[in-house]
Amino acid sequence: MNRVVVLGGGLAGVLAAVALTRHADEVVVLETDHYPASPRPRRGLPQSHHNHVLVTGGIRALDRLLPGVVDDLLDAGAHRRNMPGDCLIFSGEGWFHRVRTEADLIACSRPLLDEVVRRHAGIEVTEGVRAIGLTGDAGKVTGVRVAAGEARLRATTGATLGDLPDIIRTGMIGADLVVDATGRRSQAPAWLSALGVPGIEEVRVPSGVSYATRLYEGPGDIPAVMVHPKYTPARGGTLFPIEGGRWIVTMTGDPPLDEAGFLAYARDLRDPVIADLIAKARPVGPIRPCHDTANRRRRFEDVELPEGFLAVGDSVVTVNPVYSHGMSVAAMTAVRIAEEGPSQRAVAEVADRSWRMAVAEPRKGGNAKVGRAVLSSPGLAAEVFHGQALIPAVRDHHAVFRAMVEDLAEPLTAEQAISQFAWAR
Ligand SMILES: Cc1cc2nc3c(=O)[nH]c(=O)nc-3n(C[C@H](O)[C@H](O)[C@H](O)COP(=O)(O)OP(=O)(O)OC[C@H]3O[C@@H](n4cnc5c(N)ncnc54)[C@H](O)[C@@H]3O)c2cc1C
Repeated sequence: MNRVVVLGGGLAGVLAAVALTRHADEVVVLETDHYPASPRPRRGLPQSHHNHVLVTGGIRALDRLLPGVVDDLLDAGAHRRNMPGDCLIFSGEGWFHRVRTEADLIACSRPLLDEVVRRHAGIEVTEGVRAIGLTGDAGKVTGVRVAAGEARLRATTGATLGDLPDIIRTGMIGADLVVDATGRRSQAPAWLSALGVPGIEEVRVPSGVSYATRLYEGPGDIPAVMVHPKYTPARGGTLFPIEGGRWIVTMTGDPPLDEAGFLAYARDLRDPVIADLIAKARPVGPIRPCHDTANRRRRFEDVELPEGFLAVGDSVVTVNPVYSHGMSVAAMTAVRIAEEGPSQRAVAEVADRSWRMAVAEPRKGGNAKVGRAVLSSPGLAAEVFHGQALIPAVRDHHAVFRAMVEDLAEPLTAEQAISQFAWAR
């Protein structure tokens, strides 16, 4: 391929661009927004105010695509926590034992993660240019239509695009492959429809969960703390240490946004451990809401797509953010593209792993015996956390069986669970 144009300079777009440099002579990334000079949330990424945890599938994929990038993240202040070995978790079934598994998570702010990845990748992004449509027909996409002032295009694309005068005249950029990575508000189905491509099916499953997030200053050497609802969707809370001696605290369910309401909500969770922790910390900035948490899957792979088009990232699948999957799906997809070339089928396979976990989860009750076994059995805990972390399951059926029939330890009390961690002593 001569030229690939990637639309959207979020994580999925940047990682897809990294992958596609192995398959194309020139990769151009167009981003409507402007990146801040230092890692801060930005307008084009409203979710960047909220906690963004990278699970193991994503950690491994990132390091495979960009060797050394995870060390860069940790050097920049991100925290690595084993799941559930370094996590204090009160699940629907009770308090987890500190069982070590192969599942880790990395916690840092989303702006830091994006900046470290972009810097490490050395991908040049053309900022301030908005994609507004595709060119071509139902058989082949030949490029993208863009909106940006002449001065902006001259300033931002002059260095990378040989045919700048044409772009200014026509508002079009030709490409052998256009990659839609414009995120959850992607207009790609409408753009394709304008070319005569049949409608892309969209499945939407509401999560019923809102987010309210606030930053605090507090010591970084604490576990990741998670207080899950008894039944989903309902009240829960998380606290993750991030860079700069800060904690990112999120209430899920239907949390209030005023100071007193937020604190009362944290205290009224099934256990007040997060409220107790933030009572000793200093709040930084306002409480931020997020209501856009629905599960949504666009089945691009089910229609005959024109040649020269690929959709990745949140444009294809978004799941309830409590699963912490979107960035890992983006990274795992990029590895598939790097190794196999662009394929909507490969994108769909990665997306479906996350989708199935998010929408197939039982919403009520559950088997109490299994719950207690999960708490007390390393084998079962590992199964659960490996699934959540998008890495292969343990499949130690013998351990699972033993745990279910004869190996049920008593669940921990709150005091026992909290005292597993040095911070509490
Ligand atoms: C509240 C919340 C919490 C989350 N927490 C986690 C978590 O803990 N872990 C996790 O893995 N994932 C999490 N996610 C999901 C994660 O944010 C996304 O999966 C991730 O951002 C990857 O998306 P993307 O790159 O496809 O889209 P985005 O990150 O949304 O990026 C899209 C980019 O495209 C640009 N753009 C949009 N339109 C155009 C256009 N027309 N032309 C040019 N550029 C355009 C935007 O400005 C943006 O930069 C969370 C999501 C939410 C909402």
